[in-house]
This record gives sequence, structure tokens and C-alpha cells, in this order.
Amino acid sequence: MKRIERKNAVYTMSPKNEPVLKVKSGETVVFETYDCFKNQVLCDDQSNDSIDYDLTNPATGPLFVEEAEAGDILKVSILDIAVNKTGVMGMEPKYGVLGDLINEPKFKVFKIENDKIQFNDRIEFSINPMIGVIGVAPKDGDIATMVPDVHGGNMDCKRIIKGSTLYLPVFNKGALLAIGDLHGLMADGEISISGLEIDGQVTVKVEVIKDKKMPTPLLIEGEHIITIASAETLDEAADQATLNMHQLLTNELKMDVYEAGMLLSLVGDLRICQVVDPLKTARMELPISILEKYNYQF
Ligand code: CA
Ligand code: CA
Repeated sequence: MKRIERKNAVYTMSPKNEPVLKVKSGETVVFETYDCFKNQVLCDDQSNDSIDYDLTNPATGPLFVEEAEAGDILKVSILDIAVNKTGVMGMEPKYGVLGDLINEPKFKVFKIENDKIQFNDRIEFSINPMIGVIGVAPKDGDIATMVPDVHGGNMDCKRIIKGSTLYLPVFNKGALLAIGDLHGLMADGEISISGLEIDGQVTVKVEVIKDKKMPTPLLIEGEHIITIASAETLDEAADQATLNMHQLLTNELKMDVYEAGMLLSLVGDLRICQVVDPLKTARMELPISILEKYNYQF
């Protein structure tokens, strides 16, 4: 199977990034990834000074998909997320929702055994691996891998898991897909700026869809279709995620503005992805059974 080694780390999503692998639509590729600290955190008492923060939040790639042209949609099927055996968390003063409550940075290393972490003496959790950063090159300029936006990027959406399918816009020839920032576990919000940060490998199938209009980024996970949006504020992100789903219902299912609005108010769950990145991310989740009743084909 084709594979991109993690030494191919990028810190921006950019049309200028040289592709490290070219594949055809329909091929399967493994992306090896570092954790968001580029594996620099090794123990609980790691000193903050020993971390080179210029190296944080690497993504692996980019992958060039031959058929992809601006205006297409890239379908990314997440076939597998294999995480390694050690995850780390960090909290830092001034960062995250609780950043004003702490004066010193703190790291914690968690061993994964039998797909579980022992959080403390009383509490253990099963892991639920997800992808924090996944996106394509933006239309122009560079966007740091730390930033989520319409190109995807650092969306930190906990629904991007094994078995899910992500639809991303294509802005440049080849699309230039990059992936990083895996989490063994993360809650909606990611309020203390880290999930269970972990290195690993992601297996994806990439397919190019031509002549299709749909709001992106769009995710299918389990029984839900999910629109994801990022903006300066959580309010704006929530509005945009809602508008995107509304647009899907009105444009593709031909509902009128009232019918689609009432439907979303009844069964469209508006949720937070993350509140700690340079732009905030929200999502709207709708049962996919509704689209099936309209025989909607992706
Ligand atoms: Ca992240
Ligand atoms: Ca992360």
C-alpha cells in the first residue's frame, strides 16, 4: 500500500507545498503522523523550555490526487486510524478555557493498554481515535496547520473517526491533502487545548467527485450527515454550520426555506467541535435517514 512517512511534515496548508506522493482517484494511502508536539513530550515532568513550539502541530503530506481540479470535491474515506501506545496532554497558562486558572504549564503522559487509558486511580477510559487536522490547500496563500477553515485543517471534530467519510472542497490541481494531529480521545470543545495527543497512522481512500455542489467540509459518520464550519467566534461558526446544512436541504432536497428551517430545529443537533483554536469550529448533525428518504446520492 502507498504510504507517506511522517518525516514529510508541513506546518501550512498551501498550494506551494510540493506533493510527496501522487495517486489516482480511488487509491488508498497510509499517512504516518507525529503527535501535535512532534513527539517532543516524553514524560510528565518535561520542562516547557525543552519543547520547540515552532515544531508543533505538524501535518503529513501533501498528497496529490491526479484527477482533482479546482471546483471538484475530494471524498476522503477514513478506513483506519491506528494510534500508538503513548498519548500526551498539556495545559498551558493563558491558553484554553481554563488558562487563567493556572500559572505553570503541565504535561501528562498516558499509556494505552487494551485500548484504554488509566486517567487516575479511580477513572479509566476507552480510547476513541479521531483526526484533529485534515485538509487541502486553500485557494491562495498559506494557512497554518493550526487553523481550521473552509479547506478543513485543524477542525478538531471528534466525529472524524474510522469509518467516517469527509468531503472537502478542491481549490488547486491535485487537492494537496494533508493529515495530522491524531487524538486517542477528545471531548467536544477540547477546552484545555489538547486531546489525548498521539502519533499513529491513518489509512484513507481518496476519490474525486466532479460536477457536484454540496456544502463542505461535510462528514458522514454513523447515522449522521454533518456540516462543519469554522469562524472567528463560536456563534458565527454555529450559524455557518447551520446555514450549510440548510443549503444542502434547500438545494439538493429542494425543501423550501421554512420546511428546511423547521426540520433543522426539530432534529438537527448543533454541536461544538472546538473552542480553543485560532478559529472556532461547530457542526450541525442531521440523521442521514432523512436524505435516504429522498434517495439522495453522494
Ligand atoms: Ca488540533
Ligand atoms: Ca491536538
